[in-house]
Amino acid sequence: MFVDSHCHLDKLDYENLHSGVADVIEKAKASNVTEILSVGVTLDSFPDMMALIEPFDNVYASCGVHPLDVESEFSLERLYEYASHSRVIAIGETGLDYHYQPETKMLQTLRFEQHVELAVKLNKPLIIHTRQARKDTLNILRSGSAEKCRGVIHCFTEDLDFALAALDLGFYISISGIVTFKQATDLKEVVKALPLERLLIETDSPYLAPVPHRGKQNQPAYVADVASYIAKLKGLSLSEVGFKTSNNFKDLFFR
Ligand SMILES: [Zn+2]
Ligand SMILES: [Zn+2]
Repeated sequence: MFVDSHCHLDKLDYENLHSGVADVIEKAKASNVTEILSVGVTLDSFPDMMALIEPFDNVYASCGVHPLDVESEFSLERLYEYASHSRVIAIGETGLDYHYQPETKMLQTLRFEQHVELAVKLNKPLIIHTRQARKDTLNILRSGSAEKCRGVIHCFTEDLDFALAALDLGFYISISGIVTFKQATDLKEVVKALPLERLLIETDSPYLAPVPHRGKQNQPAYVADVASYIAKLKGLSLSEVGFKTSNNFKDLFFR
């Protein structure tokens, strides 16, 4: 009934918290989380992540170089090769992060443009990470014709204008556990204003555990808590939020 549309399964704590990916998937299932998208952040870490998820039919992968990892090993040939894998349903995460690494802006821009071009070519949706770079993010998406492949603005923390501009490009907005944080008052208003038909939900685990799990390591099972918070915010039933966001996931990645 729920889909975790963005997590990093290769970064969970398998020493102390989980006995393996099967264990994580079982815990997710117990909370009605039936599908999981594990997101790649560097080319070097991609093969191991794929090997980890490959045995599980309900787990998919994306492939890309995170804007905060743009100084990692890169070749276009390798990105194309990995991205063509049948279990890879999305390109990213990619985008711009001027908050944490303004100094790599030029390289982030180049990588982002390369990912957009590839996504359009392979017709696989983009997973966008963006922080304090609204204008440049939209410019690159528009100039690369990203409306052709569409995508998602993941872990959304921007304003309503930016969200609406992304929706105009056919993109979806993915809401993480941040929405449950007390200080995220602006984000709560944005979530109230956006149509459920264009929302996805995610954990971004192992980061950003939602209330009531703050302080613990995040995991896909907790996406149910994000859904339940959105349901309360929007005055909807939990099952409606689960059903619609799961359908949105299908529409975006498996249309
Ligand atoms: Zn991100
Ligand atoms: Zn992420």
